[in-house]
Amino acid sequence: MKKQKKGIIKNYNKTKKINKISNKQIRKSYSKLQKHKLENILKHQKETRKTKQNNIINLKDVTINNIGSNILIEEILINKLIISKQNKSYKNKVNEYFSENSMLLKNLIINFTGTLSKLNYKNGLFAGKLLYHAYNKIYNYASYNDALWHLIEFLESCGYKNIVFTSFPDKITIKIPNIKQDLNLNTHVFEAGLISGFITASKNKLLFAKEAKCSNNNSDFCEFICDEYNNYNDFRTNSQNIDKSIEKFIESYLRDLNRNKRDAKTKINYSANIYPESYYYLSSFPIIFNNKLNNYMKLIFTHIAIKFNQNLLKEFKTITKKNQKNLFEQIQQILGLLDITVTINSLKPLNISLMFNYLNSKKEFIDLSIIFFNNLANGYINTKNTATQLKNINGKYILTIS
Ligand SMILES: [Zn+2]
Repeated sequence: MKKQKKGIIKNYNKTKKINKISNKQIRKSYSKLQKHKLENILKHQKETRKTKQNNIINLKDVTINNIGSNILIEEILINKLIISKQNKSYKNKVNEYFSENSMLLKNLIINFTGTLSKLNYKNGLFAGKLLYHAYNKIYNYASYNDALWHLIEFLESCGYKNIVFTSFPDKITIKIPNIKQDLNLNTHVFEAGLISGFITASKNKLLFAKEAKCSNNNSDFCEFICDEYNNYNDFRTNSQNIDKSIEKFIESYLRDLNRNKRDAKTKINYSANIYPESYYYLSSFPIIFNNKLNNYMKLIFTHIAIKFNQNLLKEFKTITKKNQKNLFEQIQQILGLLDITVTINSLKPLNISLMFNYLNSKKEFIDLSIIFFNNLANGYINTKNTATQLKNINGKYILTIS
């Protein structure tokens, strides 16, 4: 544990350098990132996904019988979701819930480039196949339609409601109503992969699902069409305008934050759905927590944090005693979107704790969080004068910045 701690602090010093990068350089690195091919990463991806169980996740509340030493994180998360649907008391015991905004930010990160989108789709495909086999182990399907019902049940346990599906001999369509957002981006690439993987495994024939309409792209619902058409080449167009989508997301998120602040008493819930923790991590783990992708993730996290920072700057041009607390509360909320619990112990002298749970207490992610925090708070705190301390308590990390 001591060794790991050292590594993080070392990387923390590196992030100070990243902090000094100008926006022009960020734009440059961003376009480089867009162009970069990740074929090698795709190749190694399967190996890196296999991970020793006790390294990442606490297994004591997972009740699957045949856990081997090479259990995949996806299998654990899928089983948690299946169990949560069948056992309601278990559902409340094991799941934290994520907001629509949290899922959106995660989706923007994992679809940042066309190649990442493709990888994201493949992860969905992989998870969909695992899902089918997990259900088949329980139900031993006699007919394909029985399996399809469980795919819908699973999507419901992931937080989606009122799903409508139609099964034709040559294609399947799945419609999921959702809150309409204007991001100009179809965000549910993982879900498309998941549907494709599940149906492919159940029919024993390769089928491709495509998100034809998306609630984040001016539709009232997301619509997935699964047929034999290969849509692998669509990923480039999907994330062409990612930067504009991120800008739109940040603007509307901060607007909602301020509106909620004003209407604190009436507390409006803007989320259509809430999503269980297992689903959030199932759809993001192989990308955000992949050590081979870590350098790309650093650029993406830097880029998004700078965008947030620029938008915060519009509201907090000068810091006064009066608005300082409000600013740090906004920073707290933004980090909360990434499942980082922030406690503001004191502002003068500065003392803030970033807490990680058992799922995101990973070195790669802590590095990303530091980068994100540094860029987010850039101009508001002087990172040169801050000290960091990292503690590991029962496998969960707490990072204190003071
Ligand atoms: Zn969608």
